[in-house]
Amino acid sequence: MNKISEILEGVKTVGIGGHIRPDGDCVGSCMGLFLYIKKNYPEIAVDVYLDHPKEGFEYLKDFGEVKMETGGETEYDLFVACDVSSLDRLALTRDCFDRAKETLCIDHHVSNPGFAKVNYVCPDVSSASEVLYGLLEPDKVDRSIAEAIYTGIIHDTGVFQYSSTSPETMQVAGELMKTGFDFSKIIEESFYQKTYIQNQVMGRVLAESILLRDGKYIAGYLKKRDMDFYGITSADLDGIVSQLRLTKGAEVAIFLYEIRTQTFKVSMRSNGAVDVSQVAVFFGGGGHVRAAGCELQGSMHDVINNIMDQIERQQTMESLD
Ligand code: 5GP
Ligand code: MN
Repeated sequence: MNKISEILEGVKTVGIGGHIRPDGDCVGSCMGLFLYIKKNYPEIAVDVYLDHPKEGFEYLKDFGEVKMETGGETEYDLFVACDVSSLDRLALTRDCFDRAKETLCIDHHVSNPGFAKVNYVCPDVSSASEVLYGLLEPDKVDRSIAEAIYTGIIHDTGVFQYSSTSPETMQVAGELMKTGFDFSKIIEESFYQKTYIQNQVMGRVLAESILLRDGKYIAGYLKKRDMDFYGITSADLDGIVSQLRLTKGAEVAIFLYEIRTQTFKVSMRSNGAVDVSQVAVFFGGGGHVRAAGCELQGSMHDVINNIMDQIERQQTMESLD
């Protein structure tokens, strides 16, 4: 692999951007790279763009410098997309990406088509943050950079639980830990902690969830009027689909919430028996084998039925293989 030092040779300006509705891995990888360049390449002017990241990540160093809009005519020598599975998922910065002299993508989505000029896409790696770490020089990773990368890894592995967690993931986490940050605090406050309202909404979704096909699948939903009632946005819904997936006997959990009238964001989680990334890709979305998402239009029941049909069709095809 070309190390980031080679990629940055001769580069004077860098822009970094993540995906829409940034999650922990997106924030962690973008901030990790931002802090790494700031610290080790002071001669390079670097900007990081994130589309309204959650307040819970404020413990990351220089989080206040994150830009939430682009400034017109910026033409970067290098633009880096982190954790972005396809160009249409790049948030805020499409103009910067298109104008940049060089583009780089650091990602781990199996559905990534390789949309940048240089692509470090490793589908077997737990997180974009772990892919990023592989490009860095370990002795140049200080505590604040380590905090960002560690944040990304714990979010995309469900705190080292999901099957994407490898021995290498643990080794990277161990190296990061040596810098001496408060990992318990990061895990609790950025991953597990919820506001009272967020817990109430999760409770409601769980209480109203439905089992399908004799409990093989479970679906939860939230209508727009309910989101408005609680005064919440999509950022408040993290963890709900993972909790649904923990239902005994369920192979796939589906969680849908209405982002506009009759338009639903669908999140899917699988225990591995079903490849939900294929289901998501069928509907124009993407993701990983065990975690994927897409957007669908129609009534809630139509959306659930369409997703179910596609899951079953995929399973039928697999059994014919
Ligand atoms: P989540 O369900 O947490 O929103 O997303 C799970 C995974 O699927 C993430 O890796 C995310 O990037 C991907 N994903 C979710 N929604 C979409 C989508 O609409 N399009 C694409 N390409 N990927 C998505
Ligand atoms: Mn990721």
